[in-house]
Amino acid sequence: MTPVDLLDLDSLLDDEERQIRSVVRRLVDDRVRPHVADWYERGHVPARELAREFGRLGLLGMHLTGYGCAGSTAVAYGLACLELEAGDSGVRSLVSVQGSLAMYAIWRYGSEEQKQRWLPAMATGEAIGCFGLTEPDHGSDPASMATRARRDGDDWLLHGGKMWITNAPVADVAVIWARAEEGVRGFAVPLDSPGVSVREIRRKMSLRASLTGEIALDDVRLPADALLPGAAGLKAPLSCLTEARHGIVWGALGAARDCLETTLAYAGTRTQFGRPLAGFQLTQAKLADMAVEWQKGFLLALHLGRLADAGKLRPEQVSVGKLNNVREALAIARQCRTILGANGVSGEYPIMRHANNLESVLTYEGTSEIHQLVIGQRLTGLNAFA
Ligand SMILES: Cc1cc2nc3c(=O)[nH]c(=O)nc-3n(C[C@H](O)[C@H](O)[C@H](O)COP(=O)(O)OP(=O)(O)OC[C@H]3O[C@@H](n4cnc5c(N)ncnc54)[C@H](O)[C@@H]3O)c2cc1C
Repeated sequence: MTPVDLLDLDSLLDDEERQIRSVVRRLVDDRVRPHVADWYERGHVPARELAREFGRLGLLGMHLTGYGCAGSTAVAYGLACLELEAGDSGVRSLVSVQGSLAMYAIWRYGSEEQKQRWLPAMATGEAIGCFGLTEPDHGSDPASMATRARRDGDDWLLHGGKMWITNAPVADVAVIWARAEEGVRGFAVPLDSPGVSVREIRRKMSLRASLTGEIALDDVRLPADALLPGAAGLKAPLSCLTEARHGIVWGALGAARDCLETTLAYAGTRTQFGRPLAGFQLTQAKLADMAVEWQKGFLLALHLGRLADAGKLRPEQVSVGKLNNVREALAIARQCRTILGANGVSGEYPIMRHANNLESVLTYEGTSEIHQLVIGQRLTGLNAFA
């Protein structure tokens, strides 16, 4: 239980869920917290090393079954995301992209041979995966993607480029989505294939403890068995995004909790006008409003997680969670920043790092506007995307 758990929402978790959460929290305390400010400042993270440690704990592809994956519940996976993101959104992104995007795509749509080749190595962190949907000119509207796949004898030729791809600079395999004659198809592309080049995107002001890259595909020749046979049409990558968004619904709460806990501690000891900041009514109003939003966000995440575990979670429900929890987490981070005054902008405290990270989280896996459109379509029956 944390100080922000006013409603004792902990009591809604079972012992195993609480235990998984404690294990991940300890890992984050030991391996992430002491170093993350430095990683963030340098714009670098020891991704391979972390992936192996996360793999040892069974956090990679944690909610998948077989092939060395832990087969945990969606709620347990969500709690792990929350704890990882309490460390840093970039570190949680490493795990989300690996498990919910790259591994999930292969697990759900791959051939048995592809699963055997990639999933056990990805579950231990020996192999790192990434997921290439976004392109330089096509973000929110992936249906108009320009990357092409065409058959050449038994082979496939891939041509185009993917942009803003998490883990790409360190990845061994990319799940690449491309338009073929029959529609959008997915491919498991080893990143050492001739014709593939990866450029790291530097100078990000957000998610700096995460590696992001651009992938250029210059007539990359792939054998027939690189195609993910089960993935036909855009609904395949969109189903992977639904998986990852569920993790984000939880993860964003972790960043917000870290901001809140830091702020409570700070406001309790920092004195102005002869009393601690926490003793001012205006500060308490801010703290109360933030704690209320955090609790509501947790209830929402838990409800969606339980729906996922019952096999009933629908994409527009995940949109409700992603829209609300990331928006509120960002609002909490910004409000906490005000309570720390000048120290709020310092890298000595985690607040500004979380706030900056959440700007990316607000944008990736569907922007807030796109989730509003998804929910609006469900409410009205009208498609207002274009
Ligand atoms: C750090 C980071 C990591 C990422 N990792 C990955 C990854 O691993 N794999 C991957 O494939 N992608 C990744 N992305 C890309 C991300 O998913 C896209 O940035 C996102 O989908 C938005 O696309 P865009 O940036 O091209 O913005 P655009 O689509 O150009 O949108 C710009 C603005 O216009 C708004 N907009 C667009 N269409 C509409 C509409 N119909 N109505 C109203 N408003 C609209 C958007 O909401 C947004 O506010 C990552 C991005 C970041 C920042």
